[in-house]
Amino acid sequence: MSYNAPEGTADMLPADARLWRYTVDEAARLFARYGYEPIDTPMFEQTEVFCRGIGEATDVVGKEMFVVRSGENFRRECAGENVKSKSKLSLRPEGTAGVVRAVVQHNLVEQGAAPAKLFYAGPMFRAERPQKGRLRQFHQIGAECLGAAEPSADAEMIIMLMRFFESMGVPQSRMRLLINSMGDDNCRPAYRESIKQFILDHEDEMCEECCRRAQTNPLRAFDCKNEHCAIIMADAPKISDHLCDDCRDHYKAVKHYLDNAGIEYVEDPTLVRGLDYYTRTVFEIQVIEGMGSQSAIGGGGRYDKLVETVGGKPTPGLGFALGFERMVIALEAAGVLTENVKNVDGYIACVDDSVRDVAFDLACSMRDAGLCVEVDHQGRSLKSQFKVAGKLNVARVIVLGPEEVALGKARVRNMNTHDERLIDIETIKRLFAQFDGQRFGGTLSDEIDTVFSFENDDKE
Ligand code: AMP
Repeated sequence: MSYNAPEGTADMLPADARLWRYTVDEAARLFARYGYEPIDTPMFEQTEVFCRGIGEATDVVGKEMFVVRSGENFRRECAGENVKSKSKLSLRPEGTAGVVRAVVQHNLVEQGAAPAKLFYAGPMFRAERPQKGRLRQFHQIGAECLGAAEPSADAEMIIMLMRFFESMGVPQSRMRLLINSMGDDNCRPAYRESIKQFILDHEDEMCEECCRRAQTNPLRAFDCKNEHCAIIMADAPKISDHLCDDCRDHYKAVKHYLDNAGIEYVEDPTLVRGLDYYTRTVFEIQVIEGMGSQSAIGGGGRYDKLVETVGGKPTPGLGFALGFERMVIALEAAGVLTENVKNVDGYIACVDDSVRDVAFDLACSMRDAGLCVEVDHQGRSLKSQFKVAGKLNVARVIVLGPEEVALGKARVRNMNTHDERLIDIETIKRLFAQFDGQRFGGTLSDEIDTVFSFENDDKE
């Protein structure tokens, strides 16, 4: 019997896992310039956090959440017994609701202090119909800024996201930034009502789902994949014509900041985004070619009512999430994903078993100095060890033979030039010990070559 990973999930094999870690590190580095700090919240929360935070009428909550129960509570539920609402848990379908819950729980937005700027990275879970770029477990990196109402915060966040994609290599020419304002409590209810009425007026021509949405979440009809619905919705009233003065001014100021920063955007009055919590600015970054129907690589918006909704004091906020898997597809489609190979600085090869202790000891010293070194653990012949070293793509192989070792020496071979030199083992160890591991950073740097250039201790 053998098993596959569950449908809609993917194993992150080493090359992907390396890229994921690199991506998270790059996000941490770049977001830090904008004042963001990391936060890690649980992968499951009380279901109510998502129902209240994201909205029960959304697809994400209404249809796509994975329910979590302890064994005992599962048994109770199956037996028709009551399960406390605290024990009704779900896997997180997105990151914002949990982060905002944590912000409220730990009072992270202090009166009179700077906004709380937080970023997260990790898996999210949605029971969607799997397809390319649409998984049931996927990975997001997201950022949330709480306590900032000014439109400059919206522009700053959009710029940070664009810069991140650029730093990862997504070509600017392939990205399209869509923006819109969804209004606020003042102007949106009337607009929502007008869309509801519009759908009801076209009930005969629209799909069942849209007709149902008219009652629960009418703005979602703008996202309907049915071509006919899309044609009808193109004539629906536009939010841009229904914004109140404050929302219009806010939106205008966001665009002004983006213009000043030289960020190109397309205003899309039908961009409503799937989650209920958005107010005012919403944005999405799409990739123009090679993504099929899953072209959105990231998006977000302002959610000035969310903190209150999950039990906190009124606090303006905004955030975004980007999809790692989609970004990788975009990088592949643009042909900019360079092969990312395991990085091994050196391989220590043994001519025979008599030198294994020395090899092991040398490997330990080199690793302690910060280098990435491999040594044979399979009892292979010297020839096979060279083959393995070649497969690992190492730059240098240190060959230990009984005669050289008896003299305290080792042979270092440059795998590119096949040039070999004899070096003194104690000298290497001493020199490595002097280096600060951080300077090597686990990569073959000038330092290692400097060390290997010492033919013997006479030249020290
Ligand atoms: P959302 O939380 O729906 O606003 O999504 C933010 C980003 O996450 C999207 O732009 C996608 O890049 C990514 N994403 C959302 N859902 C999925 C999914 N099911 N599979 C893969 N990526 C996804």
